[in-house]
Formats: sequence, C-alpha cells, structure tokens
Amino acid sequence: MIQKYVCFHLLLHTNEAISVIIEKENVHIMTEGDRTMKVQTIKVELAETLKAKPNGAHLDFGTIFTDHMFLMDYKEGEGWYDPRIVPYQSLTLDPAAIIFHYGQTVFEGLKAYITEGGEVQLFRPEKNFERLNHSNDRLCIPHIDEQFALEALKQLVEIEKDWIPTEEGTSLYIRPFIIATEPYLGVAPSKQYKLMIILSPVGAYYKEGINPVKIAVENQYVRAVLGGTGEAKTAGNYAASLMAQEVVSKDGFAQVLWLDGVEKKYIEEVGSMNVFFKINGEIITPALNGSILQGVTRDSVIQLLKHWGLPVVERRIAMAEIAEAYESGTLEEAFGTGTAAVISPIGQLTWEEKDLIINDGKTGEISKKLYDTLTGIQYGKVEDPFGWTVKVGSN
Ligand SMILES: *Cc1c(COP(=O)(O)O)cnc(C)c1O
Repeated sequence: MIQKYVCFHLLLHTNEAISVIIEKENVHIMTEGDRTMKVQTIKVELAETLKAKPNGAHLDFGTIFTDHMFLMDYKEGEGWYDPRIVPYQSLTLDPAAIIFHYGQTVFEGLKAYITEGGEVQLFRPEKNFERLNHSNDRLCIPHIDEQFALEALKQLVEIEKDWIPTEEGTSLYIRPFIIATEPYLGVAPSKQYKLMIILSPVGAYYKEGINPVKIAVENQYVRAVLGGTGEAKTAGNYAASLMAQEVVSKDGFAQVLWLDGVEKKYIEEVGSMNVFFKINGEIITPALNGSILQGVTRDSVIQLLKHWGLPVVERRIAMAEIAEAYESGTLEEAFGTGTAAVISPIGQLTWEEKDLIINDGKTGEISKKLYDTLTGIQYGKVEDPFGWTVKVGSN
C-alpha cells in the first residue's frame, strides 16, 4: 500500500541545453532555467500495524527497532535507484552475496534528539554522510548522494518521531549502512549494493551519572594498521577488535587503549572512540594518520576547545609520554569521544602492570564541561554557536 510520494530535488550539474524531461520509474530529469535537475521521489509505504513503544526509562542500546526503514538499491550501469521507506522487515539475500564472504560494507552512527520544546534535531548529520562516502572510497563502494541521503533520513525520522524517547539522556540512534549484495564468490568489488537506514530508541548512556572507566593499554592485538581500513567505518575493524575486548573485560576493564599497529608505541583510539589527554593544561589528541577514525565528536571537541581559547593540539603521542606525564604529576585528564557516550572519562589506565590513576579516578573539569556543552547543544538546552544542529520536519 503506497500512501504518499515525497519529492526531493537534486542538482546534477549546470546545463548546456537539455530541455527534454526524461522519466523512468521514480526518476525524472528536467531542466529549470539553466539548471538540470534530477528529481528522485521516495516511495513511502506505511506499516498497517504499529509496534508498541518501549518504556523510555528502561531502554538499552540497539535492541529495539522502529516501524519503518529506508532502502535504496544500486546496480552497475544504473546507479542508485528505487529509494523507499517501507515497514521494518527482514531481508532476503542470496547466500553468495559478497557481504557474507568478504565483508564489503560500511556504516554510520548518529542520533536524533528531542528538545524540551518538542523539536526534533540531528547533530551535524552531513558529516556522517560525508564520512560514509569516505568509507565507501576505501571499500570500493560507489558514492551516495549525501544531500539526498540526508533528506531521506529526515523523512524517515519525521515518520518515526513518536519513537524518540523523551527521558533525560535518551535518543533515537540512527544506523545508515551499505552492503554488497551481488551473488559472486570471486574477490572483486560488488556490482550491486543496498543502502539502508534503521532506527533504534536508546537509553541514557550514563544512567547513574557520568562515570570514569578503567582502560587497559593493549600490547598484543591491534585495531588497525597504516594503509589498512582503520579510517573507514567498516565491519571488519570491529570484528578484529572483539578478541582484545573479551580478554580485558575478564579483568574488569571497560575497554582497551589501542596503540599503533607498527611499533605499538603511539596512541590511536580507546575502544571505538577517539581519545584526548590533558597534560599540563594542554589538550592533546592523536593526529589523524590514516588508521584513526575521524570522529564527528572528536572534531566537535577540538572546535569547542578552540572556541573557549584552550590550547588543543593534534599530534602523534606515545604511551611512554603519558606514563612520564603521570609520574611527574602533569597528566590531568583523559577521555574518549564518540556519538554513543559523547565524553567517556578515563579514571585508570593500566600499562605494563602499572596502574595510572587519573584525576583520582574522578571526572575532570574539561571532560565535564565538554559533556555538558555538547549534550546541551544536542538537546537544544544551550546555544549552538556553530550551527551544528539540524531540525527535522521544518523544511
Ligand atoms: C564511530 C567511531 C568513532 C567515533 O566517531 P563519532 O563520529 O564521534 O561517533 C571513533 N572511533 C571508531 C573506531 C569509530 O568507529
């Protein structure tokens, strides 16, 4: 049952003199003045029965999914086609689909927030689609139209806005992803793909207040190597990280601190977050080197610190330097950054049998201020001087 059509205009290129309108299924090429437009309509098929909404006070992460999802297909020669919002459902895929064998896939993660005034907003969503294309490049997956994907996402969130929980700290987690669907056992880029967006209401990350975690410095396994796929948000990186996490969690550590994959000397990331250290008043984060994921939260933290006039540097930083700073009493704070937790203070770092207790195991001043400001902007409680938030349903 197709209930409505939604139109999105996409600028292809400024024109020579095409005045013909080409129509094919839900794609129309037309001219307007001197501009050639590609108009894609998103088909919307609404679910006939809706699921019961969960209690926002008892939500976990990523276990419940909303009533609808977005889908779009790609075929070599045709490009991306058939954008549609349909009832949330299982997929039927050929068992030989490339995704199952060689992991050609990329994903993103962002959130929709509801403000006290009941407005729905996204946080820097254009950065996520830009990064999805960056990941696509590394995985030999064709680019998506970033603007179109964002419009599709806004449309989906608008339809599902009753699923956004309203309890403090809760949100609607958004997972865009692409999988290679061509049935082929040869090792080669797929000629067919699916782009999907699914939504999941998630609980507050810090149910009992922001709490520093214990981190083990990982000396055996590595997450990513120079020239590898560390800079892409692709499944294989996460599969490769499970073992280290399994091992240290037995000793009560929340995550591992990843070192570089060549010398195992330089700091890269913490779990699946970027990492920052405050040493003697200066805030330091590892420079993007090709094996570090370019976090949107990382970039936002850097911009905020600069906005506050605090010294922040992106450079290579050795674990030995952190240990020295600890010994000399200048290691003041450490924290991870990512969409899920926003800021995750590190209360203890364990390296080569030594426990480095940071800021007495308590949340640092900068960590707290960053957390309050970023979540304040996301939930529309504090002013957004950067224009980071994007409203849904107001275009
Ligand atoms: C997603 C991710 C991050 C954080 O990125 P955000 O855009 O801030 O959520 C950091 N490291 C890894 C490995 C990630 O997958």
